Formats: sequence, structure tokens, C-alpha cells
Amino acid sequence: MYSDFTFSIIKPNAVRTGKTGPILALINESGFEIEALRMVRMTVAQAESFYSIHKGKSFFDGLIEFMTSGPVVVMILRHDNAVEEFRKLIGATDPSKAAPGTIRKIYAVSVQMNAVHGSDSAENAVREADFFFSGVERFH
Ligand code: UDP
Ligand code: MG
Repeated sequence: MYSDFTFSIIKPNAVRTGKTGPILALINESGFEIEALRMVRMTVAQAESFYSIHKGKSFFDGLIEFMTSGPVVVMILRHDNAVEEFRKLIGATDPSKAAPGTIRKIYAVSVQMNAVHGSDSAENAVREADFFFSGVERFH
């Protein structure tokens, strides 16, 4: 069991098009352990709170509309150096700049609909995991 974790979301475009299974397989094959996992449909208020760091940015309203457009899969993933290793696996925010073999390179359809979220720091991983999961669900 790894001591380190990150938080991830499979975004609506990927869930809608049946990519949940393939993305989970890639995450597992890349050595991450899934500690907790759930499918949710966020309300606008929840999405605005989750993404509050981006409030005021030009892409904020579109991002909220997209992230509330359908169900998402939220999860806590364990690995050594989890935040950095998972950001490597997902690739750049803009899929045209993402490295070959990364999740975004394979499954993103645009900068906005880039298939997956990954926390950008250990501090944000704690905040984001706590946003969606209770202690009861985090049984490891
Ligand atoms: N996003 C967007 N347009 C942009 C930048 C970001 O629609 O110009 C969306 C995209 O879905 C991205 C999310 O907003 O994943 C959060 O942006 P951030 O800069 O935090 O990128 P990430 O950490 O997800 O790579
Ligand atoms: Mg980010």
C-alpha cells in the first residue's frame, strides 16, 4: 500500500463515450491503486466550489457547464509520488501538447473536454479527496 495519494476525475466526455473502463485499465496498468471510486453528477454549485481556484478565468463558465453536463467518476489513487506520477500519466492540459501514450493524448477531444482531472499538488489532493469522499469510504 502506497502512503501517497492523488485525486482524479474521469470527465463527462469520457464517461459519456464509454471510456471509463479503458481509462481505469490504463490507470491500473500504470501501477496506481484505486483506494476509493464513485460516480456522481455534480450540481453547478458543487462544480463551482470544486473549481473555485479558477473563478474569474475566461474558461470558468464553460468548464462548469461541461463538468455538470453528465456524470463523472471521482477517485482517490495511490502511488509513490502520486501527484507528479499521475500528472505524467494524464499529460498536458492541452491534448495537442500531451505526450504520446498519455490519457489526454488518447482520450481528450479538446482543452476543455480533456477526459481526466488530476490534482496539481499534495495539498490540493487532500482538499479534493475530502470534497468527494468521507472517512468511511477511505477504508485503507
Ligand atoms: N480548461 C479550459 N480551457 C483552458 C484551460 C483549462 O477549458 O484554457 C479546463 C480544462 O478542462 C482543464 C480545467 O479547465 O483541465 C482546469 O484547468 P487547469 O489549468 O487546472 O488544467 P489541469 O490542471 O486540469 O491540467
Ligand atoms: Mg489544475
